[in-house]
Amino acid sequence: MGALILDGKALAKAVEAQLKERVDSFKEKTGGSIPLLATILVGSDPASATYVKMKGNACARVGIESRRIEMPESTTTEELLEQIDVLNEDDQVFGILLQHPVPDQIDERAAFDRIAIEKDVDGVTCLGFGKMAMGEFAFGSATPAGIMTLLESYNIPIEGKHAVVVGRSPILGKPMAMMLLSKNATVTICHSKTKDLPSIVRTADIVVGAVGKPEFIKGEWIKEGAVVVDAGYHPGNVGDIDLKSVIDHCSAYTPVPGGVGPMTIATLITQTMLSAERRIA
Ligand code: NAP
Repeated sequence: MGALILDGKALAKAVEAQLKERVDSFKEKTGGSIPLLATILVGSDPASATYVKMKGNACARVGIESRRIEMPESTTTEELLEQIDVLNEDDQVFGILLQHPVPDQIDERAAFDRIAIEKDVDGVTCLGFGKMAMGEFAFGSATPAGIMTLLESYNIPIEGKHAVVVGRSPILGKPMAMMLLSKNATVTICHSKTKDLPSIVRTADIVVGAVGKPEFIKGEWIKEGAVVVDAGYHPGNVGDIDLKSVIDHCSAYTPVPGGVGPMTIATLITQTMLSAERRIA
């Protein structure tokens, strides 16, 4: 039997269908209010502009409003913080997405942490990370939270498994590791200073590639029957894992594209909806 494809595109579509119903019910309960996600794009990076557009389109598909704020490349940290303060104060706004990365002169961490916790639907604040790590409610970082939804939807066993996360970025590798730990996986986090990465990856029941380098993780590193999650996306439709050399001996994998990417967006809008529902609860 071939490897199971963890189809993020199909699951995201199903999630969107449910969200439409939740938006309708929210409108009914509030006499016509519509949840609103504010997106902030700083600078003119074309990839970032595309991601923001895709997120706005996904909102439109389910009936959530999006308000796009564009700021120039020369924006200072202070100016960005002021803009975030305005959105924090605005009762119409239920979620704030600051598209990453921001230009170099901006203190990205300060900007992320300025987002009010109840509007941090992309799960980027230190406070949200800490709460999530301690098992308290917080919106999870969208990409790893989307990966967890995908694994759970396919009933991939996590408890007691050895999960190896390659990458430790604040928005991906670190929260991914904490989420797997909270589901009782035994977790190893690898990074650029890790010694003999291939031999560690070979011990994994679940491998998450979050390295940011095209096809960096090789098929021969992957144990027979492992579950393979590729968070990477690079030109040429390749991820961080050399998937074509993995498919013949893994048990399940996320395709690129159509795996993790659609789940990231579906999670962002799900969490925006949840933020709205929590406000009226
Ligand atoms: P990042 O901030 O660049 O982090 C990359 C991580 O990989 C770092 O922790 C780094 O280690 C580690 N690394 C680099 N070279 C390594 C090596 N030779 N061996 C082992 N580890 C190494 O990237 P990111 O934002 O987490 O993104 C990772 C990937 O996910 C990218 O391909 C990105 O495009 C993708 N992504 C996808 C989505 C989506 O929605 N699908 C969202 C976000 C990101 P150090 O910490 O030691 O530097």
